[in-house]
Amino acid sequence: MISQKLAEIQKSIPANICLVAVSKTKPIADLFEAYKAGQRHFGENKVQEMTEKWEVLPKDIQWHLIGHLQTNKVKYIAPYVHLIHSVDSLKLLTEINKQGAKYQRVISVLLQFYIAKEATKFGLDWEEATQLLNSEEYKSFKNIQVVGVMGMASFTDDESIVKAEFSQLKELFLKLKNTFFHNDDLFKEISMGMSGDYQLAIEQGSTMVRVGSSIFGGR
Ligand SMILES: *Cc1c(COP(=O)(O)O)cnc(C)c1O
Repeated sequence: MISQKLAEIQKSIPANICLVAVSKTKPIADLFEAYKAGQRHFGENKVQEMTEKWEVLPKDIQWHLIGHLQTNKVKYIAPYVHLIHSVDSLKLLTEINKQGAKYQRVISVLLQFYIAKEATKFGLDWEEATQLLNSEEYKSFKNIQVVGVMGMASFTDDESIVKAEFSQLKELFLKLKNTFFHNDDLFKEISMGMSGDYQLAIEQGSTMVRVGSSIFGGR
């Protein structure tokens, strides 16, 4: 039962942590069951799938785009997306700002950092992030708000590796906070932790966990 699983997870995490229910590949009925149980934050990794679900589900759902985002697809989610977790280039941010302006919105985003030891994962490193945040282009943006950072740990059973990677993301967050967002209260989110490691992520300072299979079952 989805509602039961949801309740169990909600009980296991502090109330101030945002639980994003990752519903990718799952049918509308599953999302609606979670919705009826009170869930409002949903995460998807594909633009088309998220948009199809947004069209038919209640409009008070807050949609999180958690997967890699191509510049040419930003326009489809710009009217409604709540938070984009996966910003990894100035080019992408420029397009989000442009689409935000078109819809007269300020779109919230996270900077995705590369913390895993796996070549397949996306994300910025410190150099690239500081370059982006120091650019004149970034400083001119009026229709985006950077609200924090996101990262994915290595896929491994070795807890010490995962813990070190989460701790690294927290350090990056604090460094960014001190350097660029000192007076910006909106910069406060650390999106880290999935079904297998969200407890560890919370211990390391996560404010937002992205949990899929533990709620909806395997994919
Ligand atoms: C699929 C996915 C999740 C959820 O993974 P589970 O192991 O099913 O909890 C979290 N974050 C991202 C970026 C994902 O793509």
